[in-house]
Amino acid sequence: MFPERVYYENTIQNYPLGRMLIEKYKSSEFIPIESHNNIFELRSRPNEDFTAMKNYLVIGVRKTHKYVPNTKISDFLVPFTSSGCMAMCLYCYLVCNYNKCSYLRVFVNREQMLDNLIKKSHEYTKECVFEIGSNSDLILEDTVTDTLSNTIEEFAKKGRGAITFPTKFGMSDKLLGLRHNGKVIFRMSLNPQELIKSVEIGTSPLFNRINALNSMCEAGYQVGILIAPVILVENWKALYAELLDILEAELTQKTKDSIFIEIIFMTYSYVQNAINNQAFPDSLKLYNKEIMTGRGRGKYCYKESYRLEAETFLRDEIDKRFKSARIIYVV
Ligand code: SF4
Repeated sequence: MFPERVYYENTIQNYPLGRMLIEKYKSSEFIPIESHNNIFELRSRPNEDFTAMKNYLVIGVRKTHKYVPNTKISDFLVPFTSSGCMAMCLYCYLVCNYNKCSYLRVFVNREQMLDNLIKKSHEYTKECVFEIGSNSDLILEDTVTDTLSNTIEEFAKKGRGAITFPTKFGMSDKLLGLRHNGKVIFRMSLNPQELIKSVEIGTSPLFNRINALNSMCEAGYQVGILIAPVILVENWKALYAELLDILEAELTQKTKDSIFIEIIFMTYSYVQNAINNQAFPDSLKLYNKEIMTGRGRGKYCYKESYRLEAETFLRDEIDKRFKSARIIYVV
């Protein structure tokens, strides 16, 4: 049962979403906290408890609203309605930020964040793209808060430019009939099913993700694919070639004609390695000292020669199958 426990700041009762969540999860155990940022009881738990803590929900009020300039798909990263996630991808970048406290936190002052976003979208001379999903998975958050549909329709009505978010989940049906006015860029993150199963624990299977991508494209959303993160396991060439074969067979012509592609290689960290070794002792080992090298502050990335070989391989294989798809960047 999710959530097994709810940690909450008292002030959430002053917000409609706070009261809705209290009612929705009234059969869970509720534990008051001073601040969602610093729950000593959870911070002091051992790494082995990582999976148990993913079953907790933390509800608070977001105080930081600073937009961070970005140069990839968006112009700004926006701190939005949640951070953390219930899933447990072994490489999750959020673990670098929140360590073992990367459980789902939702913020009840969503009206304030949406108002800020709409105002900000009118402040620039050019139309900007705002990344609202860099701290969590908004499709998954939506199953808890129902926030995303409202965000899309309100931004479509009053915002300028576009909002975008990536996801690893296929539950997009709720979004299909929304009036999005072409102001939403939906990006599906994809990996070979074998890696989804062993590494992206708790996320949607590949075929659900492909179906969601096709449906969102059909519903008029702008769509993109992230091949991310590329993980260089022993048989990576066969796995990624098979993934591209599946995409060639399963994506609709309309999706193929519309998509752009982002390719991101996996980075990994000392912290993730420590948590995974203790919380998932039997899982696939992602750290490989033969092909990885240090990249500052306890992080590892693939050595340049391995990365280059994989980049060339992926570019060639994509080009063979998707002539019109644009690879926007590879990192
Ligand atoms: S779905 Fe995204 S946010 Fe959630 S654990 Fe996986 S990588 Fe992290």
